Amino acid sequence: MVKKIVIDPGHEGVTGNLDPGAVGNGLKEADLTLKIAKHIYDMLSEYEGVQLKMTRTGNQSLSLSQRAKIANDWNADFFLSIHINAGGGTGFESFVYNGSVSQATIACQNVIHQEILKAIGNVKDRGKKRANYAVLRETKMPAILTENLFIDNANDAAKLKSEQFLLQIAHGHVQGIAKAFGLKKKAKPTPSQPQQKVSDGKLYRVQVGAFSDRKNAERLAEELKKKGYPVFITD
Ligand SMILES: [Zn+2]
Repeated sequence: MVKKIVIDPGHEGVTGNLDPGAVGNGLKEADLTLKIAKHIYDMLSEYEGVQLKMTRTGNQSLSLSQRAKIANDWNADFFLSIHINAGGGTGFESFVYNGSVSQATIACQNVIHQEILKAIGNVKDRGKKRANYAVLRETKMPAILTENLFIDNANDAAKLKSEQFLLQIAHGHVQGIAKAFGLKKKAKPTPSQPQQKVSDGKLYRVQVGAFSDRKNAERLAEELKKKGYPVFITD
């Protein structure tokens, strides 16, 4: 069974009259939540049996009810809303709806909360909480909302400014979701496809030229080899 997962970057964006969420220490919540959500999307794409949907992929006007509707209309199996906290404090906390929720919802919160804390290191655990948030109340599937550190706390903000730390936050969410839903990673690409590892774990290939005559391809390959590039010819 394919699991349909909706990833919801909190707030709207950092342009025009859009809701930026909390701001502090030169950071804007809507910007951070989008970055983390995109990392989660990319990382979850490496798993089998998942379909993914983002509620927004850029700066975009989007109400809370619209977010829930996206998940409900799509018949999602899980809804994840990403936020950054503010208002004086430090650390990480997660929320599920404070009305009636399924056992699956509680189980998801338990495992995802734990995996995020594991992934982000020395961060205060503010606990697994419940609240009457619209995206949690209006979604029909298990739904969780995470508050990832405090934008108005200098120490927390310093961490949130690190791309590596945002990747760790995303990694924790992905580990938790994978555990909660028993997801397995896709098989690794075969070694016959040379690839370049980059820091965020993605693979990029560069193609130079396509030739109908193999001789021409070999000529260019020789030229590139001389310049020190790892070269391979495919057909
Ligand atoms: Zn928020």
